[in-house]
Amino acid sequence: MITINRDYFLEELADKKIIKNVTTLCAKCYKEFKEEEVIFYDIENLRYICKNCACCLSEELETKAECTLQECEEPSLFAFWVSLWNTSVCNIYKKLHILLF
Ligand SMILES: [Zn+2]
Repeated sequence: MITINRDYFLEELADKKIIKNVTTLCAKCYKEFKEEEVIFYDIENLRYICKNCACCLSEELETKAECTLQECEEPSLFAFWVSLWNTSVCNIYKKLHILLF
């Protein structure tokens, strides 16, 4: 059982404010967040990720190896376009995060 490293990931609830103003998708696997879902703020990379990805990245931090957890989804073509879009608005996200929190 992998535990999420709280030094790197802050647990938060995906409330209306986050979903409306910050992000609706996990920055790693692009899974859509549901309202009131437990999500994690990645302190190093200034992004929100889902619980699976937080587990996955914690494992990588622990073992210094690529995560091999089954539940980590492969990025799809859709995810690729989302990632391009995310990159372009990444700085806006960071600014928003500073304003909101
Ligand atoms: Zn994810």
